[in-house]
Amino acid sequence: MSRWKGRLDPETSALLIKAARCQMELGLSDMFVSRSRVRKRREENTINGRRKKRTVRFKSLDDHEKAIGQCSKCALGATRTKFVYGVGSHDADIIFIGEAPGREEDLQGEPFVGRAGQLLDRILAAIKFRREDVYIANVLKCRPPDNRDPQPDEMATCLPHLLEQVRLIKPKIICALGRVSAQALLQTSAPLGKLRKKWHDFNGIPFIVTYHPAALLRFSSYKKDCWEDVQMLRKKYDELMMEQ
Ligand code: SF4
Repeated sequence: MSRWKGRLDPETSALLIKAARCQMELGLSDMFVSRSRVRKRREENTINGRRKKRTVRFKSLDDHEKAIGQCSKCALGATRTKFVYGVGSHDADIIFIGEAPGREEDLQGEPFVGRAGQLLDRILAAIKFRREDVYIANVLKCRPPDNRDPQPDEMATCLPHLLEQVRLIKPKIICALGRVSAQALLQTSAPLGKLRKKWHDFNGIPFIVTYHPAALLRFSSYKKDCWEDVQMLRKKYDELMMEQ
């Protein structure tokens, strides 16, 4: 085991130690661990190959939500009113991801409610989806005070929660709503204009970026661009369904 020291994440180390103990009990001298199992664990702990901190894996979204609902890993845990986990179908084909809860979301404990949420519902309806068909979440589960932008350390701390949601849902498409969530998930500082109008890859999942509905409420001239983005999304979804 010593030659692996410092090269493995804690979960993989735990897997190796457990396998070694079982095999010692069976009297086997050479340790056997499934390479594919180790590789799979490694892949799940990354964003496009870059290692990330991960929380423990859960069997369902309900178990996960129950386990992290009292999270206070960053300072926002002390200032939130309600923890905002996510909403929608637990086996959704598409996840929409915003940056953080706003005032209404913080009060109600649900992402994308209020005017921005109603606009998101209308956008979904325009491409023939209902809110309950998809899954909606944010990078942060707690509201930053005064609706300020999430801080990089807050997003880095909270990101494992979202990665676990994505792992459990296994979506076919991810859509980032706004610059902040797009940059956090794609691990880039590129501006929104450079991230839109193309497909990215998020751990093998097609990933598209469009405006946050709150930005569309402030600048209605962005609506045409958003319409083009969501039509791209719908087209990709239809193609993926045809391939099945
Ligand atoms: S924002 Fe995320 S990491 Fe911070 S307390 Fe809330 S759930 Fe925990």
